[in-house]
Amino acid sequence: MVAVNLARFARQPLSVTVVNRGGEPGRGVAYGTSRPEHLLNVAARNMSALPDRPTHFVEWLGTRCDFSDLPVEELRETFVSRRVYGDYVRSLFESSLRPIAEKSDVLVRTVDADVTKLEADAGGGARVRLDRGEALVADAVVIATGHSPPAPFPGAENLSDDGRWWGNPWAEWHRDLPAADGHIVLLGTGLTMVDAVLTLTALKWEGHITAVSRSGGLPLSHFHGAEYPDYLPDGAETLGLTALVGLVEERCARLRAEGRNPCIAVDKLRPHTQRLWRGLSAADRRIFLRDYAARWNIMRHRIAPQVHRTVRDAIESGRLELRSGRIENLVGTEAGLVVGVSGGDGGVFKLTGDRVINCTGPHARFSETGVPLYRTLLESGLASTDELDMGLRAADDFRVIDRDGNPSSWLYAMGPLLKGMLWETIAVPELRGQAHAIARSLLNLPALAPPDEALIEYSI
Ligand SMILES: Cc1cc2nc3c(=O)[nH]c(=O)nc-3n(C[C@H](O)[C@H](O)[C@H](O)COP(=O)(O)OP(=O)(O)OC[C@H]3O[C@@H](n4cnc5c(N)ncnc54)[C@H](O)[C@@H]3O)c2cc1C
Repeated sequence: MVAVNLARFARQPLSVTVVNRGGEPGRGVAYGTSRPEHLLNVAARNMSALPDRPTHFVEWLGTRCDFSDLPVEELRETFVSRRVYGDYVRSLFESSLRPIAEKSDVLVRTVDADVTKLEADAGGGARVRLDRGEALVADAVVIATGHSPPAPFPGAENLSDDGRWWGNPWAEWHRDLPAADGHIVLLGTGLTMVDAVLTLTALKWEGHITAVSRSGGLPLSHFHGAEYPDYLPDGAETLGLTALVGLVEERCARLRAEGRNPCIAVDKLRPHTQRLWRGLSAADRRIFLRDYAARWNIMRHRIAPQVHRTVRDAIESGRLELRSGRIENLVGTEAGLVVGVSGGDGGVFKLTGDRVINCTGPHARFSETGVPLYRTLLESGLASTDELDMGLRAADDFRVIDRDGNPSSWLYAMGPLLKGMLWETIAVPELRGQAHAIARSLLNLPALAPPDEALIEYSI
């Protein structure tokens, strides 16, 4: 989307190269899924990729024959397949590849390669090293590499050749399922686990599934929202974690007492979350991650009602069991892959699976991901991690901050890489604004005023 916005707004000759490892640019992990049952977890009305055109995605959907019969009000509330959203981003990207007559000197091209290293060039700008040996020269570089791979578990290093272990939940594990009396263990009970259960259900696999995580909690369902006033006092970012938690919990209790959904209190924080997070001390952020993040994820990262129903049906029919506990290790045995779990609903226990899939989400420690690009960036001092080592440190204008604390003159980062800086930075409503702002900054154009807040609705 940075490339799309560069092509939209450039008024001078410009060359943009999108380096993307494998697959079509524009899809990534989320929208490159091969499975049609994987739905967006945000209603169509809030999925425009262009912050200055909030209804763009709904308009685009309306041009497709499979959606054109739906009244626009219904279309706005639909949770479409992530594959369809990939088509949307792809179509936007394709349009940026075609120079329009009056902009024939704005060229966007793609290179299929892995970026392994960035180096500062003596004359300003950068050298972008690719895995296949060549290097690109650039005046500016934007790192938009998405989520880090999941953290490995002790014992997983011995399972690299074991077909029963799937460390990458986005690989095609569903092509080789165990027999119908088999057992699949899912590590994690969040959105990735939900995707796996949807696929097993769509394929009518009849075996038993156990999903385990520290909380053992299933993401909640979206619901049709109601009017609710903004309740944060002025200066809420200075209150500190204890007072903020008190405020939110008090709202949740009030909503429950009124017979309303307490998630409304969390939804109302959405436009303020980045500001609140920035205002917390490092110690408060650590406490939040330890004590509240699991609850936050369940309430904030909700799923489409029909998806929630499918997962609940699996639980009620006994096909899916949710367990709580800390995943300790993995051991391959003849009988299956054994997952050691401690401190949960069953004390210390073991789960033996014919397949075990890692659904625990991105690695929590950025410096330990082992990704060559990140390792070399940190080693060279061109970048540094945030205080909690969740991602890269960046200034308010998305310039990466180097080891000495200086914002880079040519390197920008966005999206999930900034989770430690912003917390709320992984979903389209935030990404579209970041891509737009970075593109305009690269073109030395003023940032556009944010669109009418009334158009940005956070709950459904
Ligand atoms: C399963 C899933 C479902 C989601 N569903 C939603 C949703 O419904 N609504 C929503 O708003 N958000 C959703 N999200 C959030 C999602 O993260 C963002 O919407 C978006 O996909 C992130 O975009 P990105 O460009 O930052 O990263 P990605 O889309 O992951 O793209 C990163 C790209 O960089 C490439 N890459 C990485 N490293 C290198 C390298 N070293 N060299 C070359 N190329 C590299 C990757 O191959 C990939 O193509 C979902 C996320 C996931 C994982």
